[in-house]
Amino acid sequence: MKKRDFIKFLGFGTLGTVACVTGIAGCFSRGSSGERKNWAWVHPLEQPDNTDTGGEWEKLLTNLKGWGVDSVLLLVREKSIVDKVLPIAVRTGIELHGWIITMEYPDKATMKEHPSWYVVNGRGESCIDKPAYIDDYRWLCPSNPEVIEFTKSRVSELCAYNELAGVHLDYIRYPDVILAPAHRKLYDIPQDELIHPQFDYCYCDICRAGFEQISGLDPLMISDQDTNEAWREFRHNSLTTVVNELYGLVHKSNKILSAAVFPTPGLSKLRVRQDWVNWKLDYVMPMIYQKYESKPVEWIGTAVREGTGALAGKFPLLSGLHLYQLSPEESGMAAGLSLDAGASGIAYFTGNKMDENYWKQLKNIIS
Ligand SMILES: [Zn+2]
Repeated sequence: MKKRDFIKFLGFGTLGTVACVTGIAGCFSRGSSGERKNWAWVHPLEQPDNTDTGGEWEKLLTNLKGWGVDSVLLLVREKSIVDKVLPIAVRTGIELHGWIITMEYPDKATMKEHPSWYVVNGRGESCIDKPAYIDDYRWLCPSNPEVIEFTKSRVSELCAYNELAGVHLDYIRYPDVILAPAHRKLYDIPQDELIHPQFDYCYCDICRAGFEQISGLDPLMISDQDTNEAWREFRHNSLTTVVNELYGLVHKSNKILSAAVFPTPGLSKLRVRQDWVNWKLDYVMPMIYQKYESKPVEWIGTAVREGTGALAGKFPLLSGLHLYQLSPEESGMAAGLSLDAGASGIAYFTGNKMDENYWKQLKNIIS
């Protein structure tokens, strides 16, 4: 089913009518992004695994190219994976980006050597001693200048690869102060949407001094921690500063910067302090994973529209679809709704999950 047929299928009539139903923001966003591109996150721990000598990677990237994927975001935990996959990507005509887990950094040596780099909750407890939800919830503080320098050094290592097209930031956020509905049910925590101090970050010495300098208040002592607008803004700005510095760094190497973010601008700010509409980015990929939100597939279009509307063409938005949460038929519907809402392409989570069944449903919509 071609895009225009998909719109007809939804009952919106001809392509000429689409301009009206898409809305001004959607048209502007799509029009300003140049040609549409489709991306895929690829996880090295799925098939093919690290023991593969290259043949499986060749097969995977060739398949993805044939399935309309232009760019692959490769999860990089060790540089050796870039050494292995980058020559294959170049050969198969795939644009490769290094995907890093940015602020969540549960590395034992770093925690031991630099405990002050890690976030502190509203009870004054370090995530090293009392991680929220799971053991891996050891997060770096974006306000800490040493953390920013450390993160820049990680990104610089990727920028040293001439043929790598860009860097992709994931977990570029604070720990969730409020979990998504489906995740909340998994833990013995308050099942509400209130801000509780044990999940609220960061109250490290640097954050406290930084906020006190601009407001005259110690955030650990204020009575309205959960509603104080200036304190909320301080944390938005801390993350924005990190992203913008990384943007400058990546662009100096003639590469591009993209980021995986929470599904909508509103949920991103509320839950993880991401004000991504105001970040410097080349692409943003909201992870519009409807099952985590206990929402139907149709919500994906609504979420994309919120993002493209807020961005108003500032940079392109790619709709991040969780293929493990979508049947092949649903993936076609989700892609159609995303493009109609102004997405400049689709980002599949994951490329490892793509197959002919998905492609049959997607090819006439995304091509
Ligand atoms: Zn802090």
